[in-house]
Amino acid sequence: MKIGLIRCMQTEEMCPATRCLDAMRRKKDAFTDVEDDIELVGVTTCGGCPGKKAGLRAGTMLRRGAQAIALASCITKGAPIDYACPFAATLAKVVRAAVGEDVPIFDYTHAPAKKKASPAAASGGCGPRLEA
Ligand code: SF4
Repeated sequence: MKIGLIRCMQTEEMCPATRCLDAMRRKKDAFTDVEDDIELVGVTTCGGCPGKKAGLRAGTMLRRGAQAIALASCITKGAPIDYACPFAATLAKVVRAAVGEDVPIFDYTHAPAKKKASPAAASGGCGPRLEA
């Protein structure tokens, strides 16, 4: 399966899409049920808020050979900074309208990373301890 990946332009500055690419390569998370080999045909962004260019870019991906579109977890799950796109639902509709009903759209790529407890949180925070 040839996939075009669309990601959040805001997140691009802080994430090199490592986990998206790993999920595709290892067929895990969103790609668990894909039986064919996965080939990434391109990576692009939504074009910036409010994501109006996502449909146009999805169409370009199809013309470049993509058989499916993946919306990265930065858009729909808020990975890696726990801040999902506030326009995600509209963005997904725009992409659907652009590619038609027959093209599969993966609505995320990978599960968000598990949060690590900060030392401050583990010790009860940085404020004064309240005794019961
Ligand atoms: S529209 Fe959403 S996905 Fe695109 S840059 Fe803005 S927050 Fe990111």
